[in-house]
Amino acid sequence: MSGRADVAVVGAGPAGLATAHTIARAGRTVRVLEAADAVGGRTRTLREHGCLIDTGAEMLPPADAYPATWRLIRELGLDADPGAVPRVRGALGVWRSGRVRPHAGRPLGLLTGAGLSLRARADLVRLQVAIAAAGADPEHPERSGLGTRTLADLLADHHPELVERLLGPLAAGFFGWNPERTAAAPFAAHLASAGSTAHWRTYRDGMDTLARILAERLDVSTGHPVTGVEHVPGGVLLSSPQGDVTARAAVLAVPAPVAARLYPGAHPDERAYLRACAYAPMLRLSLVLDRPTAPAGARGGFAVLVPAAEDPLLNVVTVDHHKHPARAPRGRGLVSLIASPQGTAELLGASDAHVVRRLMKSAERLMPGLSGRVRAHRVHRFRHGLPAPSPQALAARPAFAARPPSAVDYAGDWIALRPCSEGAVSSAARAADRVLAFLGGAVPETAPTPLQGTET
Ligand SMILES: Cc1cc2nc3c(=O)[nH]c(=O)nc-3n(C[C@H](O)[C@H](O)[C@H](O)COP(=O)(O)OP(=O)(O)OC[C@H]3O[C@@H](n4cnc5c(N)ncnc54)[C@H](O)[C@@H]3O)c2cc1C
Repeated sequence: MSGRADVAVVGAGPAGLATAHTIARAGRTVRVLEAADAVGGRTRTLREHGCLIDTGAEMLPPADAYPATWRLIRELGLDADPGAVPRVRGALGVWRSGRVRPHAGRPLGLLTGAGLSLRARADLVRLQVAIAAAGADPEHPERSGLGTRTLADLLADHHPELVERLLGPLAAGFFGWNPERTAAAPFAAHLASAGSTAHWRTYRDGMDTLARILAERLDVSTGHPVTGVEHVPGGVLLSSPQGDVTARAAVLAVPAPVAARLYPGAHPDERAYLRACAYAPMLRLSLVLDRPTAPAGARGGFAVLVPAAEDPLLNVVTVDHHKHPARAPRGRGLVSLIASPQGTAELLGASDAHVVRRLMKSAERLMPGLSGRVRAHRVHRFRHGLPAPSPQALAARPAFAARPPSAVDYAGDWIALRPCSEGAVSSAARAADRVLAFLGGAVPETAPTPLQGTET
């Protein structure tokens, strides 16, 4: 698209694309600028060796847990295809004493054990009741009765086995969180809203499905890193080595530390929150295998938590060809190894060869003979993996949320401190509303923006 757009959106992850989609539907012109060579951000999927390799996000729960995401799924007509967002069988197990204990995080696990003693399971129910009583709204974690207590404070009252064999590995393996520095309320809200792991789903065609569909309908420039954002008369200037862009308003749909770097002119209340919104890094190794392989006892199950007591470096194994058979060609396999926070700290800056050596050594204990079956590997490094909500961020959030609309706004999973793509998509509606209010309200639906092609 040539000429000045009403709105420039920085970042073509789920937050940026959903924001651009909503603004375009309101009749405004919008241009999305993405640094990477493809859309999706941390929900990106690679297509290599006949596999669909999800680099970051893995799964999504049903509509009651991810309402904004499922609204978008329905709006894009994906729900008309019954196989497009299928259930994941045997979604979560826990590695204990040489095999996978299935049914973790679902009611059936309270009966079968899922690697926990009866007392630890009873304590899990007690924790769920306590979380419900504290009130856990994932969009407003600062309003929870848990206040600014840390995750370590919350877990200190609970059975050590529950903490060491389920909750600790969950917080570390899925979110990269350090319990001493992370506020309890976002974790509690996520647990309460995500519900049973028995209902987890994935996108058949890769976790980037929503991003790809949205990008096809929008004006997206990939390979276009934005290096600075500043106010100019009548709008905003977005600098880039690919060419500067001006727009009447801009939405920064990038992780908070990136937004803080790009836009030093932010209001002090915004800066305080941006500074407080830290991220945990994540590291994942995907392995393309010459035959389907899974940890002992996985029996068709997908994700396996590995407690630190079992292995200090490896935190989660995902069996992607179990998640959906189309993730790998028939007769082959695809598994991923997610490093623990300790493993990520040690390996994030290391060479691919070193990452492969260290994580594979750990994974051999779960899948003997694995090394001999690897045909290709890919290391995925996320310096900004998941929002790591601190008590300071919770405290700074009300002032940030109350900021008046302005020419530069924000979207992303960090807006409500949610460690998931739903946080990104739900932030989009708010960002779009605020930008439209700044521009002077929505243009009537009778003047739709024409669909734009994707530029790569
Ligand atoms: C390992 C891992 C596993 C996860 N698993 C799940 C899961 O199973 N389920 C789930 O719901 N969520 C999961 N998530 C979280 C989910 O991926 C994120 O919450 C979501 O992608 C956040 O979307 P976003 O649009 O806010 O940010 P991003 O997805 O990070 O998108 C931001 C975009 O901005 C671009 N960008 C950055 N800087 C610039 C710049 N200067 N100029 C232009 N563009 C720029 C980036 O390249 C990126 O494309 C996982 C994340 C990770 C890392």
